[in-house]
Amino acid sequence: MSEASVPARLRFAPSPNGRLHLGHAYSALVNETFAARLGGDLCLRIEDIDPVRSRPELIAAIEEDLAWLGIGFSGAVRRQSEHLPAYRHALESLRSRGLAYPCFCSRAAVIEAAGPVPSRDPDGAPLYPGTCRVLSDEERAARLAAGLPHGWRLDMAHALTRSPGPHRFRCLDADHAETSHVADPVRWGDVLIARRDVPTSYHLSVVIDDAVQGISHVVRGADLFASTDLHVLLQALLGYDGPAYHHHALVLGPDGMKLAKSRGSESLGDLRGQGVTPAEIRRRLGFA
Ligand code: GLU
Repeated sequence: MSEASVPARLRFAPSPNGRLHLGHAYSALVNETFAARLGGDLCLRIEDIDPVRSRPELIAAIEEDLAWLGIGFSGAVRRQSEHLPAYRHALESLRSRGLAYPCFCSRAAVIEAAGPVPSRDPDGAPLYPGTCRVLSDEERAARLAAGLPHGWRLDMAHALTRSPGPHRFRCLDADHAETSHVADPVRWGDVLIARRDVPTSYHLSVVIDDAVQGISHVVRGADLFASTDLHVLLQALLGYDGPAYHHHALVLGPDGMKLAKSRGSESLGDLRGQGVTPAEIRRRLGFA
């Protein structure tokens, strides 16, 4: 099948850490608009790898809010928590090629080792200073054999030796005009690709799921633009073709900040309770 005849496939991928708010509604509606214009499918993916913050009642509420908004999804809902073996397998592939190493550092230890004026990754976290990268093979094996808690980090320098790039990704603007961007993954340093509690991370799972689900266009908020730099490197290392990307503007609150439950942003459920209709939400967000 030629590339032009492969139908477009998009996904909306909320994390069930809280109720959806207007920012999520906007993202889902931009996805719906792109899918309609591209004549493609829109899938729902629940990014529930966090075993503490993801709660079944929040997943049910997300599905209910999206149905209330009138957004239709194709196919079965993909829940990341049901695909941990696939993520473990990808991690093992990176590990067996020496591209990932176990990290035994606690968050506090990383902050301490990074020093008083650390370089930071695009999310603002201190860049990992490489403490566990330089462990001897014996020390690493002893710690693993002792069952010490550990996550897994990408060995960025080694990854870039294996896949030097330049890594490019296609970006669509709101009118679907395409530009090519050069990714700068090195700014993520030795990023954590598997947490201590699950054999994956947001970055690893999202790259695998976009590939496994055949996603042709990733439409998501501008706050994830820098993450795309890392995602295209992981795609190259895992042998996946990259989708095209559209990073949409974020809905800001009256304080000029991104909406967040932690900052008291009203949820769609709250708005529904106040008698706001789906049509009003769409109008308010510019989708009349
Ligand atoms: N699960 C992420 C979120 O809720 C979105 C990830 C993505 O679209 O790549 O912010």
